[in-house]
Amino acid sequence: MKILVQKFGGTSVASQEARIAVKDKVQKAVRSGFAPVVVVSAMGRKGEPYATDTLIKVLKETNLSVNVRELDMMMCCGEIMAACVMAATLQKFGINAMALTGGQAGIITDSQFGAARIKNINVSNLHHLLESGVIPIVCGFQGMTENNGKFTTLGRGGSDTTAAAIGAALHAECVEIYTDVEGIMTADPRLVKEASILKQISYGEVCQMAHQGAKVIHPRAVEIAMKKNIPLIVKSTFSDAPGTLITNDCAETEEDTSINERRLASGVTHLTDLAQFRVALNPEDIASGRKLFEDLADAGISVGCLNLSESNAMFAVFADDVEHTNKVLNGTDFEYTLTEDCAKVSVVGSAMRGVPGVMANFVAALTGCKISILQTVDSDTTISAIIKQEHLIDAVKALHKAFKL
Ligand code: ADP
Ligand code: MG
Repeated sequence: MKILVQKFGGTSVASQEARIAVKDKVQKAVRSGFAPVVVVSAMGRKGEPYATDTLIKVLKETNLSVNVRELDMMMCCGEIMAACVMAATLQKFGINAMALTGGQAGIITDSQFGAARIKNINVSNLHHLLESGVIPIVCGFQGMTENNGKFTTLGRGGSDTTAAAIGAALHAECVEIYTDVEGIMTADPRLVKEASILKQISYGEVCQMAHQGAKVIHPRAVEIAMKKNIPLIVKSTFSDAPGTLITNDCAETEEDTSINERRLASGVTHLTDLAQFRVALNPEDIASGRKLFEDLADAGISVGCLNLSESNAMFAVFADDVEHTNKVLNGTDFEYTLTEDCAKVSVVGSAMRGVPGVMANFVAALTGCKISILQTVDSDTTISAIIKQEHLIDAVKALHKAFKL
């Protein structure tokens, strides 16, 4: 049996019109000889009646400090509704489909509510349904604890993870991630109108893009698919465009290579709502940097964009952690300055590795728009800058242009 996992995001299941488009994709898979397993997200986006954020709001209006167990159970309702409505849509067209919660699909997680990790997937129920010709419609983003059957959620964007994990467990031929854009693009199309669709990209690069803010796919899903070498395709529910193929094999076909010739970078990504701390260190005391980061670690503060020198340490935290970080630093002898309302803009591309002039191009693009760089950080495939958030759109556009995306 050739198994195909098809995951449909919030906008793909939000209206009856969209669900019919989903039905067409499922039917097409069946006609091509696949046994599909469908994974769905909650219906709609923030602000819509059955979206995850709405469910959270309803509960928090009742009790701001709601228990994490109930919060997860509440959030699971969004996908349960979507799976039932999707199954009913398929059944209406004579397709044999059955809605399953994460637990019913065999997804066992640890009990870290809100950010649970999948421990294993008991595939017997899914196998049984597939062998009987039934299409399972699995609730994304959720699982069940092993011993007491509590509902858990996998963290935002977790439906992608569900799809990849099911694909891995069932040895699927491919995992298709259907959304409202025609693939992974060279930048968020909401910021850059000229952004183009990448035909093919490696797991590693897309994982970097996802970590650096391209929320079109969850990095965990990419990691799971990479481990089992299962191809991922990101494509649109609403068109027949081929989408973006994500595989290990970045050596593109000859035809593709000429199209993407000399493409140093694959995309520009961004993260918002950051704050930058600059802490003065005593150059006479080499232990001071260590003490700073130990204090932050002891307080459970996750810091990013680390930059350490003899006399100075810089790092960024998410806006939600600013108050806590201030409190921790105020309890020490360190002097520091805080810059709020920052964003991080990154250029990702494995072909940039070792190429001279990449940093010069990056800096010139930003300074050419009079954007001051508060700090840079880089890895061998990514260069990022912390900037003021008010410059974000200009920065993304400038880098997109400078790297000829
Ligand atoms: P879904 O509900 O289908 O999972 P998401 O909102 O999670 O959809 O992801 C799709 C959205 O991701 C797109 O509408 C797009 O605005 C945004 N996005 C951000 N960066 C990128 C990128 N590099 N390529 C494509 N889409 C991107
Ligand atoms: Mg998503």
